[in-house]
Amino acid sequence: MISFKDVSKRYKDGTTAVDSISFTVNKGEFFVLIGPSGSGKTTTLKMMNRLIPLSDGTIFIDGEKISEYNIHELRWNIGYVLQQIALFPHMTIEENIAIVPELKQWGKAKIHERVTELLDMVGLDPETYRNRKPNELSGGEQQRVGVVRALAADPEIILMDEPFSALDPISRDKLQEDIIHLQKMIKKTIVFVTHDMNEAIKLADRICLMNQGKIIQLGTPDEILKTP
Ligand code: ADP
Ligand code: ADP
Repeated sequence: MISFKDVSKRYKDGTTAVDSISFTVNKGEFFVLIGPSGSGKTTTLKMMNRLIPLSDGTIFIDGEKISEYNIHELRWNIGYVLQQIALFPHMTIEENIAIVPELKQWGKAKIHERVTELLDMVGLDPETYRNRKPNELSGGEQQRVGVVRALAADPEIILMDEPFSALDPISRDKLQEDIIHLQKMIKKTIVFVTHDMNEAIKLADRICLMNQGKIIQLGTPDEILKTP
């Protein structure tokens, strides 16, 4: 589904953030990129939806080079969840979730129905929450909205960059459970960045361990744990 072939990224200042990596993420897989700060995880993620350009190599999605996709199609079909909670403060929860569906010109009724379904999925009562503003929600609740916003227009791929790292441990545990449950329902391809091995083991089908821009190990949680 997503395939990296000898991909490198050098930033303008000469930093090699990603150094000739190749790997494939399978359809429906929960794929976790892990490594210390500065190892190239975020750079790897951002190249997948062309938030930043590659310096070398090729990325394929469904066998087609991402450089050949229409950029809007690509972005709309890849959900993206940020580390920082990034809801628009002046918009209601419903309006925040509806951004991509609006761009896709879904009708009002369809959007309303979808927002109801999404809030239900993460245990937020739709009638209580849809008309609230983000500052009327706790951090954990806001990040739940951030997660379902990325799912709103039913993308096949969802990228998540340390989505739970800003949360307190209890909210984080809850959201990890939610995301496991969610993945069982939606069966989408998820690429998830973290530096927390416990989180990776809990969530991943496969873990890709990075260091200094390279892939050090790639395997199931069991395989990673068995390696000395
Ligand atoms: P991680 O997500 O694993 O923390 P990043 O992909 O953010 O790693 O960063 C990898 C390396 O690239 C780091 O050395 C970082 O400082 C550097 N880097 C990231 N973004 C930029 C940028 N815009 N310009 C220059 N260097 C960058
Ligand atoms: P993350 O924690 O998600 O890896 P960072 O805190 O490393 O993100 O980076 C935040 C922003 O600063 C990003 O847009 C990244 O591209 C940029 N950045 C990171 N490192 C550098 C750097 N060495 N030089 C310039 N920009 C950087």
